[in-house]
Amino acid sequence: MNIILFGPPGAGKGTQGDKIVKNFNLYKVSTGDLLREEIKKNINLGNKIKSIIDKGLLVSDNIINDLLIKIFSDKKLYNRLIFDGYPRNLEQARNLDTCLKKYKQKISCVLCLNVEKKLILKRILGRQTCINCGLIFNEYFMPATSKNHSCDPKFLNKRSDDNEKTVTNRFETYLNKTLPILDFYKEQNLLHHINGMLEIDQIFDEIRAIIASLET
Ligand code: AMP
Repeated sequence: MNIILFGPPGAGKGTQGDKIVKNFNLYKVSTGDLLREEIKKNINLGNKIKSIIDKGLLVSDNIINDLLIKIFSDKKLYNRLIFDGYPRNLEQARNLDTCLKKYKQKISCVLCLNVEKKLILKRILGRQTCINCGLIFNEYFMPATSKNHSCDPKFLNKRSDDNEKTVTNRFETYLNKTLPILDFYKEQNLLHHINGMLEIDQIFDEIRAIIASLET
């Protein structure tokens, strides 16, 4: 099955995506992570990408398509994909459909995590990612401790776009460009709304039940 995790920045797509991967043996495709990798690897293109990300805007569809080609064509990943942060506009949603059809796959469901803006800000401004193991923590809600994290605290990192000004722009971009895609998936009966304001495990219970119902 292929799943889209949908929702505003800070909705918990990354956290829930990691839990789905562990429980259902799927493969998470985060275009944000792919872009951050590209920034580290490729100085020229990386600088261009970073300046767009830091403004809270969307990176061009061409760059995103190039990053995804290898993933769509990888047979090991057929029907095992969870998309986190993709598609981000209607063109990307159409491109995703075309690419999946080419490899005889389809989207099984779209899980939309609904969260109020006030909570989004707190989640994003407190977010820390370990650059060594990839685990995500939050200074306010789930701080990294010696019990839940074995790496040195020096690896805990804040994203350059996790500041108040960029978050406000990212949220505007979400409302204007990304949210309109929901109708596209609603018309295809693929949309499931999830209360993303609950505790991490409660949200996952809801998600697990939906995925389990698709498997039967
Ligand atoms: P994320 O890690 O999903 O929060 O994405 C961080 C930033 O990367 C976004 O604010 C965008 O600037 C860029 N980005 C991530 N995914 C996409 C995408 N599918 N299309 C365009 N830009 C993206």
